[in-house]
Amino acid sequence: MMEMIYPLSKMLKNRELSAVELCESYIKKIEAENKKLNAYTSYTFEKARKNAAFADSVLRTGKGGVLCGIPLALKDNICTQGDLTTCASKALESYRPCYSAAVWERLEREGAVLLGKTNMDEFAMGSTGETGIYPPAKNPNDITRIAGGSSSGSAAAVSAGLSVYSLGSDTGGSVRQPAAMCGAVGLKPTYGAVSRYGLIAHASSLDTIGVIASSVRDAALVFDSISGRDLRDMTSCDVNYNTASALGKADVKNMTIGFSEQFINGAEKTVIDSVKAALSFFEKSGAEIIEIKMPDLEQLLAVYYIIACAEASSNLGRYDGIRYGHRASDCESAEELIIKSRSEGFGSEVKRRILLGTYVLSSGYYDEYYKKACAVREKLKEDFDSIFNTCNFVLTPTSPSVARPLGTEVTSPVENYLSDILTVPVNIAGLPAISLPVKGEGALPAGLQLIGKRFGESELMSAAYFFEQNCLLSLSGGEYSV
Ligand code: GLN
Repeated sequence: MMEMIYPLSKMLKNRELSAVELCESYIKKIEAENKKLNAYTSYTFEKARKNAAFADSVLRTGKGGVLCGIPLALKDNICTQGDLTTCASKALESYRPCYSAAVWERLEREGAVLLGKTNMDEFAMGSTGETGIYPPAKNPNDITRIAGGSSSGSAAAVSAGLSVYSLGSDTGGSVRQPAAMCGAVGLKPTYGAVSRYGLIAHASSLDTIGVIASSVRDAALVFDSISGRDLRDMTSCDVNYNTASALGKADVKNMTIGFSEQFINGAEKTVIDSVKAALSFFEKSGAEIIEIKMPDLEQLLAVYYIIACAEASSNLGRYDGIRYGHRASDCESAEELIIKSRSEGFGSEVKRRILLGTYVLSSGYYDEYYKKACAVREKLKEDFDSIFNTCNFVLTPTSPSVARPLGTEVTSPVENYLSDILTVPVNIAGLPAISLPVKGEGALPAGLQLIGKRFGESELMSAAYFFEQNCLLSLSGGEYSV
């Protein structure tokens, strides 16, 4: 895939193209192709046209930043005032928030153009895009396959050219994994770098808003614009990034990259081949590759599901048909109303997690599961601190496999959970990571993940850019050419 934002922005600034024309061309494409891909769950074309007219008025005066007039899509769990924001759930099927997420406020101010909301797993719980109430998003590289999850529609939209870039949420991999499966770049920032205000909560201590884009520079430009302190999210940090200007400054010769054979144990052969090719590329470029010691990944997956489900069960308590969410009819008592509303409003994956979360938080089990998981989490943070004393990045595949066929029967939900085994440690430790498209099986892409230090996005993005420019692009017969 190629860089989009700078070239488009240049045309807009030179007035070779107006923001309204650009917006209309995306609307046309979406109207023609979305039925096939189910990338969008709802459109905001009226808003898009207003945004575009505003952008043109700014651009005409010679002002406007690089995102002015550029169309984007938002995952259907990011609130925008007055627009459907459903989390692909029956509980919020007709929810139109009365306020906008901080990320959209920032982008809107810059003249960004919102095309619509994108498909996802229900409440961002899943890794296939199939747990929501809508027909699942399809993979533009092969429409018989999943687009990954949970930000399935955000990745499919970018990969199919139905949006220039998109935002998703990443609690355990939901930006990086679908980006990998669709052949896009997926950036999960450091926890706290981007405000979560207006993101519908899944697991608050893990949730991060991230960017899906066609190139590293595109992702960097968007990240620079959405990051920074927001007083309405007390976990957001006072950071001021300019990662886009740091691209090209990677000092690869003095770089050390951490790797562990554990990362590719059980991965598909094409994924292993691409990871090995990437390692040898970095080595040939002068970087040193060292073997690192990571805790057992399966244990970390268990820790993730205990913490994520515990927090989800608490966050989703508000959808009781009284305060929020679908309200069941014909109930004779408040208790019956709550039970019926929740039974009807949630799908089976969400119910499973609420049950699991309630269980690990209940007295008697709290110490055994939740408290223990929190202790392992602290230990993992320390482990990563010492890993980053010896290397600049950790390199892994994003997912052990490429996109699987839609509707694959699984014998246990754990089969799906395993596709997140390489992404969840990053959320548990609150680190930044980026997924870059590499070659997978046949025409299908896979993902290469680089994990960086907390708030080390500038260094991370410039290493990713180096890889993209020198390995992906120069070797490219095709786009996923490692
Ligand atoms: N697939 C993971 C889960 O189901 C991650 C979800 C996410 O990042 N939102 O929990």
